Amino acid sequence: MFDLDSIIRPNIKMLTPYSSARDEFKGVASIFLDANENNLGSVLNDYNRYPDPLQKKLKESIEELKQINSCNIFLGNGSDECIDLLYRCFCEPGKDNVIICPPTYGMYEVSANINLVEIKNVPLTAAFELNKEGILSSIDSNSKLIWICSPNNPTGNLTDRKTILSILENFKGLVVIDEAYVDFSVSSSFINDVSRYPNLVVLQTFSKAWGLAGLRLGMIFSSTNIIHTLNKVKPPYNINQATQEMLLKALQHPNEVKKKIGVIIAERKKLSDQLSSLSFIQKVYSSDANFLLVKTDDATSLYQYLLRNEIVVRDRSKITLCEGCLRITIGTPEENKQLMNVLNHFVKANP
Ligand SMILES: *Cc1c(COP(=O)(O)O)cnc(C)c1O
Repeated sequence: MFDLDSIIRPNIKMLTPYSSARDEFKGVASIFLDANENNLGSVLNDYNRYPDPLQKKLKESIEELKQINSCNIFLGNGSDECIDLLYRCFCEPGKDNVIICPPTYGMYEVSANINLVEIKNVPLTAAFELNKEGILSSIDSNSKLIWICSPNNPTGNLTDRKTILSILENFKGLVVIDEAYVDFSVSSSFINDVSRYPNLVVLQTFSKAWGLAGLRLGMIFSSTNIIHTLNKVKPPYNINQATQEMLLKALQHPNEVKKKIGVIIAERKKLSDQLSSLSFIQKVYSSDANFLLVKTDDATSLYQYLLRNEIVVRDRSKITLCEGCLRITIGTPEENKQLMNVLNHFVKANP
């Protein structure tokens, strides 16, 4: 049986969180002299007041979009803050460990290293699927988190749902499913499973499908107790006022976002077909995300060639199971056309 109390770090369980002026007084008043703000205002129109520490309005809006109760939502300064907070709440430095399945998103590893948390690597299979037996057999009593990225970065594929459910059912720590790219996929989110699995943590972000990477807003969906623990540890004003306001505006236009997603998915198919026809591209992996992983004859020279033509892609050829691979983000239809044009000239230079 899962017992959250047994996996929260003892110092975090005991922690008395910082209590801000906004926490201590929530009523109606006309003169606020409690937070040492500048009551004369700023050179901008606004922003002299501290933002809502728990982002109530924004969460209500996300509640509607995601069809999950506000009390199951945590907001972070990008998913990267969410990832770091999961380590700080649940992993005792120098003692606990986490399971990571490379090749995958690099921040799980970097954040573990920052927090002095041991990593148990259980690589994906050659088909980029989870090695379920490998994961389950590497769990020990100090294993706190299992990181699963689906659709996975940089491989682009979804993780089998039954495999994830089986891991959830056989692990006493938290299973974190990073769904940064879920909006580009046909599969449904694990958000709906949060009520059934107390050890499930789902990560999403506004950086990809919503096109708001610059505003820095990541989301965690999980049990109220896990959300409560994260709220205790986060910096009091981690989501700034500008981000909260801009997001509230953006959330009024879900259909425009859907349209853009549709364009990206159509371009993904087109680009995938076109790339597959190139002689020096061995394989274009199928993708449920907004990028394509392609295996090439010589990743380094192709990468350099593209750079000379002012096109920058991600060289992933040095990481496990991605030998010879470049990761290419789906651009605008015009950008993709230019990419193909440049690549077609590479064929002529390298017949
Ligand atoms: C891009 C990406 C994120 C998003 O991170 P933010 O900090 O929210 O911008 C999270 N996870 C994965 C796997 C990603 O590729």
